[in-house]
Amino acid sequence: MKHMIYLDNAATTRVKEEVLDAMLPFFRETYSNPSAIYSFAGKSMEAVNEARKNAAALINARPEDVYFTGGGSESDNWALKAAVEAYACKGKHIITSKIEHHAILHTCQYLEKQGCEVTYLDVDENGVISLDALEKAIRPDTILISIMTANNEIGTIEPIAEIGRIAHAHGVLFHTDAVQAYGHIPLDVEAMNIDMLSASGHKFNGPKGIGLMYIRKGVKIRSFIHGGAQERKRRAGTLNVPGIVGVGKAAALAASHMEERMAKETALRDHLIYRVLNEIPHSRLNGHRTERLPNNANFCFRFIEGESMLMLLDEAGICGSSGSACTSGSLDPSHVLLAIGLPHEIAHGSLRLTLSEETTMEDIDYVVDELKEIIARLREMSPLYTDFVKKEKA
Ligand SMILES: *Cc1c(COP(=O)(O)O)cnc(C)c1O
Repeated sequence: MKHMIYLDNAATTRVKEEVLDAMLPFFRETYSNPSAIYSFAGKSMEAVNEARKNAAALINARPEDVYFTGGGSESDNWALKAAVEAYACKGKHIITSKIEHHAILHTCQYLEKQGCEVTYLDVDENGVISLDALEKAIRPDTILISIMTANNEIGTIEPIAEIGRIAHAHGVLFHTDAVQAYGHIPLDVEAMNIDMLSASGHKFNGPKGIGLMYIRKGVKIRSFIHGGAQERKRRAGTLNVPGIVGVGKAAALAASHMEERMAKETALRDHLIYRVLNEIPHSRLNGHRTERLPNNANFCFRFIEGESMLMLLDEAGICGSSGSACTSGSLDPSHVLLAIGLPHEIAHGSLRLTLSEETTMEDIDYVVDELKEIIARLREMSPLYTDFVKKEKA
């Protein structure tokens, strides 16, 4: 295969060598079930404890408040469904946003069918919720606010600390889907008043199919997966020891050089944004200009159909995405782009490029050079564009 430039790190990331190396002994040698009595089991349990410590440290949590799950979607489902069950005596009202991941939105729709009421907050043109609207939406029967830390499509970072403050001032639980943020930007469950937080291994250079949930001490969330007594009886199932070790290692690596990586990715991202907006006509940046994930760039190109653009980029060895991985394959424009006010025809021509610390400046320049040509070529073939140019001239 020719050189591939992978710019779809919001969909998934490469498992780091150090992470894989840390995991392998737990397949080959230390394969014990950590719940057993013999000392061979103790070795697995020690590794799990170490991983839990590292995973907790990244968000300033106590290790005993971190629970390993089967991924981000499971954590999101758990947070919402179990909160509804545990706080039924208080009410059945949930507040979330229109730009959440489907793991939240589809769970909310399911809960509505079960008799819950859900308020879906609007976002502004940058994808930021209004704190004022949030506060006004709180009712006596509101049991949960679930707002994502950072959006997976447009990269916008929500004002999490302020949301946490408002939630706690009104005695409402606050959950955040931090799957895109955990391991990428600084998070602090204490300073930000977060009660529950979802994260996923494969979004920060760990393995797939393993995630975690932070649950603040005192929050009445019970088990979502019933069975054995693992994870303080809150999440049954034999521990995925290699996966947990991988997540712990990825968390430790993320903590060890977060600032450095953020600075590097931000510089690359800003170069990409600058070149695209300056060199490609009728392009726009989606998401907040500065309050955004260091590795996220999301554009719309008028008169362009996203799928064709992605196919031509693929021919040039570039992996990007249009909308999110879960929605590609469907023809509906992204709910996030519609929520920030883009009309359907423009939302169709979107491109998300998400970088990693392995991305280089040469990669970015190559991508922009290719993209310029691809867009010019597609526009030449577009009757809409030809019409537009004629009208401009007239
Ligand atoms: C990827 C993602 C999820 C789902 O995580 P999985 O581990 O793939 O189930 C949830 N929320 C956001 C914001 C995501 O980006």
